Amino acid sequence: MSNDHGIEQAIALVTGASRGIGRAIAGQLVEHGYRVFGTATSATGADAISERLGAGQGLVMDVTESSSVAHCIERIQEQAGVPVVLVNNAGITRDQLLLRQRDEDWQAVIDANLTGVMRVTRAVLKGMLKARFGRLIHISSVVGSTGNPGQTNYAAAKAGLEGFSRSLALEVASRNITSNVVAPGFIATDMTDSLSEQQKESLMANIPANRLGQPEDVAACVAFLAGAEAGYVTGQTLHVNGGMYLT
Ligand code: NAD
Repeated sequence: MSNDHGIEQAIALVTGASRGIGRAIAGQLVEHGYRVFGTATSATGADAISERLGAGQGLVMDVTESSSVAHCIERIQEQAGVPVVLVNNAGITRDQLLLRQRDEDWQAVIDANLTGVMRVTRAVLKGMLKARFGRLIHISSVVGSTGNPGQTNYAAAKAGLEGFSRSLALEVASRNITSNVVAPGFIATDMTDSLSEQQKESLMANIPANRLGQPEDVAACVAFLAGAEAGYVTGQTLHVNGGMYLT
């Protein structure tokens, strides 16, 4: 996969790179030659990313805090320049049937998974517009398309993210900036570790590939969308789910 964007060293920013899917994405982008900044919510997490990444660096960012987002982007620009690849990966779940859902659980999920993406994207977009180049990649979920009981908040945020991405794709396409979504199915990470054995078994029955996905399965698709070959792909959602949902 080429990162030959005609830029000396392309800078990529991956939110939520401390573990799971974000960690795999950051690792693959380093392998593809990007200078990668990966974010964590704590200084210890950021240090661990710096140690692991080699040609990369960890920084603290809380996507729910505008000042934290602004501070982090400023640091990247001072140290390295404008990120031309942004992977909005950070996300949380607070599962509960709607009738039992508290306002704060709804709000927290919308804030981290949807408003957070808007905050980080807006903060890097000016630099991409100036550079007349950019790759925006947002990590959604299959449940944004299928729905899932107990996840009205999460599914609403992820479905919203897809509308956000398509609208933004139209706004920035003429500037050589693409905006796409990668929608994983069920991937083996801390997020799915918390499911009960019974939940995992019933999930597996709906996955034709007969296995949970690995973070690297998702990272490979992100690397493709970030690469030079994907310049004519925009406003799309790439599903990575072992066949559990076919569009
Ligand atoms: P994870 O819980 O292992 O990692 C989530 C990451 O987001 C962590 O690095 C965490 O520090 C970060 N994060 C959480 N809140 C944050 C905040 N306020 N500010 C900044 N960072 C924050 O989850 P994962 O499974 O690796 O999921 C990564 C993405 O993939 C999420 O957007 C998730 O919704 C999506 N996803 C996961 C699966 C799955 O099966 N694991 C399926 C579909 C979609």
